[in-house]
Amino acid sequence: MTDPVIDESPADAEFRLAARAFLREHAEPKPPGASTSPLGKEMSAELEAAHVQECRDWQATLAANGWAGITWPAEYGGRGGTVAQARIFAQEESRFLVSSGVFMVAIGMVGPTIISHGTEAQKDYFLRRMLNGEHVWCQLFSEPGAGSDLAGLTTRAELDGDELVVNGQKVWTSGAHFSDWGMMLARTNWDVPKHQGISWIAVDMRSPGIEVRPLRQITGHAHFNEVFLTDVRVPAENVVGEIDKGWGVALTTLGNERQMIGGGGSGIGFKSLLALARQCGRTEDPMIRQELARSYTRFEVLNWLGQRAKARAKVGLPPGPEVSVMKLAVSQRVADDGDLALSLEGPDGMLIGADAPDDGTFQQLFLNQWSVRIGGGTEQIQRNVLGERVLGLPGEARPDKTAAFRELPRN
Ligand SMILES: Cc1cc2nc3c(=O)[nH]c(=O)nc-3n(C[C@H](O)[C@H](O)[C@H](O)COP(=O)(O)OP(=O)(O)OC[C@H]3O[C@@H](n4cnc5c(N)ncnc54)[C@H](O)[C@@H]3O)c2cc1C
Repeated sequence: MTDPVIDESPADAEFRLAARAFLREHAEPKPPGASTSPLGKEMSAELEAAHVQECRDWQATLAANGWAGITWPAEYGGRGGTVAQARIFAQEESRFLVSSGVFMVAIGMVGPTIISHGTEAQKDYFLRRMLNGEHVWCQLFSEPGAGSDLAGLTTRAELDGDELVVNGQKVWTSGAHFSDWGMMLARTNWDVPKHQGISWIAVDMRSPGIEVRPLRQITGHAHFNEVFLTDVRVPAENVVGEIDKGWGVALTTLGNERQMIGGGGSGIGFKSLLALARQCGRTEDPMIRQELARSYTRFEVLNWLGQRAKARAKVGLPPGPEVSVMKLAVSQRVADDGDLALSLEGPDGMLIGADAPDDGTFQQLFLNQWSVRIGGGTEQIQRNVLGERVLGLPGEARPDKTAAFRELPRN
């Protein structure tokens, strides 16, 4: 395997050593096999509340010591570092018993969006409160009739004096039940084509008229929610970017989301799979050896795709096709590794929770694969993007792109 320190530029190697020193001083090293991720764990409401508080505390420590928002410009409280440095910090941090996972939406998606499109007042109010662990954010984009076709959303926001009155329903809203703020897309103009009448709005999740109802997943967790909005009044000054021009703002958010998911290490990880194969006494089985080799190959291919993305970013080139391939490649790895883990466990793979080997960790990770394969754009949509934008194949017919949204047939 590659040695990250040897392969790094002197500046990045120095950054890694500084990160290590900070983490050793402020965090407890992770014992082998321990995890701070709620993935792969049974999660009660109490455990989740404790996890959220730990994330807030750790985020506050990061901010107090100049390690929050690594890629954010220094003028907004960030460290002014590179994407590569953010990954280096995440690698080092993963060796300690700390997490700021619930701030991923705020710092990875909302912050960069407000930095690019927000007013000075919005930057002043929101950015610092994300960095210092005060505001957890959620993403109020998807709706029952608008997921892959997000621009088909029908939650409406109507101007009433200097406020917007919002009515509609969102769905699959991760973490809405513990979030302080939500970034919402709502339709503010029905008389223009669908992409042209949407606004990006910051909504206080404690506003009257917001009802959050949990949705239970096959993992048993209630990680995401339905959010019902009834006559919710939001100051018009909370619109980020111009009113009706929110689609361009949303593209910034979605670009940052894809980058976050593609660069993420979701899933089981090759070392854990190998350890499981040894534990189950299956390493001499030729079929299993073949599958382990495939898993390792996928792990390395993803690593090299990441290196390509890093190399382009370093010389100031825009993201290339490797970024589009990465989300799909991560999905496939998570699916194949989940299948392999359960086949390694054999009949025990059918057990769950405390009855299963490793308290059902691999069952949870197996079941969680659909989150990764659907969230942030499904595999089919990623293939459409690759076909059209990377391979240059003819685009899908989109007759609904030019007509006024009000005129479009809807379910
Ligand atoms: C774990 C998880 C967390 C999430 N968190 C959030 C969140 O916090 N906030 C939020 O707003 N959303 C969230 N989502 C929602 C997510 O963005 C949507 O589920 C996703 O965009 C797909 O939309 P949909 O579920 O409506 O499926 P649909 O768009 O209805 O798609 C159904 C099926 O049809 C296929 N399909 C649709 N259109 C096409 C096409 N043009 N070509 C080929 N196939 C097509 C899809 O690939 C899919 O298989 C989350 C989802 C998951 C799984």
